[in-house]
Amino acid sequence: MATTDIQTIQRWIDTAKHVVVLTGAGISTDSGIPDFRGPQGVWTRNPAAEKMSDIHYYVTDSEVRKAAWQARLHSPAWTAKPNAGHRAIVELERRGKLHALITQNIDGLHQQAGNSAARVIEVHGTLHSVVCLDCGWKGPMQETLDRVRSGEEDPPCRLCRGMLKSDTISFGQPLVPEVIQRALTAAQETDFLLSIGTSLQVYPVASAVPYAKSAGALVVIMNAQPTPFDTIADAVLNGSISEILPRLCTPEGCKSDSQGLSE
Ligand SMILES: [Zn+2]
Repeated sequence: MATTDIQTIQRWIDTAKHVVVLTGAGISTDSGIPDFRGPQGVWTRNPAAEKMSDIHYYVTDSEVRKAAWQARLHSPAWTAKPNAGHRAIVELERRGKLHALITQNIDGLHQQAGNSAARVIEVHGTLHSVVCLDCGWKGPMQETLDRVRSGEEDPPCRLCRGMLKSDTISFGQPLVPEVIQRALTAAQETDFLLSIGTSLQVYPVASAVPYAKSAGALVVIMNAQPTPFDTIADAVLNGSISEILPRLCTPEGCKSDSQGLSE
């Protein structure tokens, strides 16, 4: 039977040596970044928005690309600030416990919160970079957004005139095998896996959870809705991530720190 006791989980983290954290959209909603798939998600409310994230529509329809550049221009990611949940994971790294941070998010908030880029494995890429679909050139997103601001509705690659896109994995695009491999290897090396704010329905990254469990790790799942792996988890928590995570990641007995982190 999975526990929900915070102190028990704190003790597990206190004794863990190679913590792996897996995050999804749920950790960033308190920073004002909408969950695309949830009941209030952008795609649920606006099916046209989903087209912009489908590689088939993106490469075949210039109107979809123009709309996608406008959406990037006004993305909440540019003004979003990391929340107490992000900062709690920085605390795990500061304590020397964080082996890897696997994220499905493209917002860059983990690095902005202070996690070192070397620990963060972005399985769905990042909105902060642009890639040329033809020659593979990559560059910073803001430089290309400056071109959109100055009137280029669908800016082409400056090297090859090819098609540019955010360096993220759209629907219909393959994942990057080396990145997924790195994530799943980390999941097999951990003694404590913490899955936060993901419904664990997107594969292969969701299999990090059963991989960690069968390698002997303790597994804690924190998500607003049930996940398919709740039955194999050692603890399942459904409360607010930005309230609970700071308490979990602070050593037991350091109450003042915990209050500081949770604001
Ligand atoms: Zn190019």
